[in-house]
Amino acid sequence: MKIITNPSVLQEIIKKLKSERSGSAAVLVPTMGALHEGHLKLIDRAKMLGDIVIVSIFVNPIQFGPNEDFAKYPREFENDCKKCENRGADFVFAPSVAEMYPSDSGIIPFDTKINCGKITSVLEGAIRPGHFDGVCTVVMKLFNATLADYAVFGQKDAQQVMVIKQMVRDLNIPIVLDIYPIVRENDGLAMSSRNSYLTENERTEVSIIYAGLNAAKGFAKKEKNTIKIKNFLNEFYSSAKFFNVEYIAITDLFANEIGEISEQNTLISLAVRTNQSKTRLIDNIIL
Ligand code: AMP
Repeated sequence: MKIITNPSVLQEIIKKLKSERSGSAAVLVPTMGALHEGHLKLIDRAKMLGDIVIVSIFVNPIQFGPNEDFAKYPREFENDCKKCENRGADFVFAPSVAEMYPSDSGIIPFDTKINCGKITSVLEGAIRPGHFDGVCTVVMKLFNATLADYAVFGQKDAQQVMVIKQMVRDLNIPIVLDIYPIVRENDGLAMSSRNSYLTENERTEVSIIYAGLNAAKGFAKKEKNTIKIKNFLNEFYSSAKFFNVEYIAITDLFANEIGEISEQNTLISLAVRTNQSKTRLIDNIIL
């Protein structure tokens, strides 16, 4: 496995590999590192899709708000590389911030931003303004640096999936997106690099997040009114001592809030914030 830090260098390597091995496909797994089994399952999936697997590890500053956890986001680069190698990745692409967003090269500094419109201003986007512009911009750069034919994303970040799909469609990006289901701990908690922030009390309690989503899914078999389903879920979480619900949304797969649950393609998504470590967790379930 090779570790590459420069986008142009990576692009040249992949271009050469593709021309040498006709019919080969490059598959990108974008991550911010601190890799857990959820990320590694995405790598397994990538290996099924193509023969050049590139895992990017980049904590992308432009997708963090000023009061978010960019500085303290866990960074475990050496360990991450070992995990990628063990899982059979061919490349880790780990650029520095300066390589991704040049500002001191004596030329015009990096200044492009991709905005995917309305879908980026609701749910997560309403609470984290500018977040999805940062995500789309970096993802586009990663697509280009890796010349990826496929990219694997996790359903864990449900709105991110919707937004990237919109970008790929709107900009005619020649890539196939592959969405992997949420990988969970034994007690149901969605795996996340941010789970490491949780205190013991919080960690024990947050398993009810998924229990609630499952219960709501059951409840929605009979009750189609989304206000009543949200009330049910708020009630479910009302006994929580260590977290508060930030939002619960019931939408279609294009992030539009709906009043009645339809036959399929309904998503319940939510964010909570714990009150000891102040960790923000997201989760979702498709009905
Ligand atoms: P992150 O490093 O958290 O930005 O995540 C990188 C990719 O891994 C994104 O596509 C996430 O949706 C995906 N991912 C993170 N956690 C999980 C999980 N528990 N299950 C499935 N995919 C995940």
